[in-house]
Amino acid sequence: MKLLDELRVWRDHWYFRWVKRTRPLTIHTECLHKDNVWKAAQGYVGSGRKAIWYVVTPVNMDFVRAETGCDFGEKEYEKTILERYKWLQEHGQEIQAHVHLRIKMSMYEPSSKEPQEKIMKSVEWLRRNGFKVDKIVFGWWSFDDKSQAVAESLGLRVTQRLDNYFIHDYDMVEGII
Ligand SMILES: [Zn+2]
Repeated sequence: MKLLDELRVWRDHWYFRWVKRTRPLTIHTECLHKDNVWKAAQGYVGSGRKAIWYVVTPVNMDFVRAETGCDFGEKEYEKTILERYKWLQEHGQEIQAHVHLRIKMSMYEPSSKEPQEKIMKSVEWLRRNGFKVDKIVFGWWSFDDKSQAVAESLGLRVTQRLDNYFIHDYDMVEGII
């Protein structure tokens, strides 16, 4: 069993290297309200590169506050990220949906309607603001069959961990790419 596991890790490693070379980079985007991250993002776009940006929406403000220490009011946050996502789209970048169903990774959430509502409201916000989304990445790759069904009913394909090479927007500050 152990050998099989190791072979699997080896296989995924080489597969992922191939994915990185051949498919668009994807960026899980949750910190563009921060000016240093935004500056790095503009630098990336300015260098002529293209990526798929999976972006959080104001629906995930609770998560953004908890994870990034954002202290913006709701209006200011929405205005800031919307302007920046629009700028990315105007500069040839693809915008798609990134939704965190929970505030913290470790948080247990009993089955409720809330996760489904988060997906629907996020997608509605993106489409209302002019982004033609047809893909979604769930935060921490964490979702269940119900969430997948909701996403698919909205015409979205759920992107999986090995589909594309991925980074976070804040990784760009460190110059990782
Ligand atoms: Zn995320």
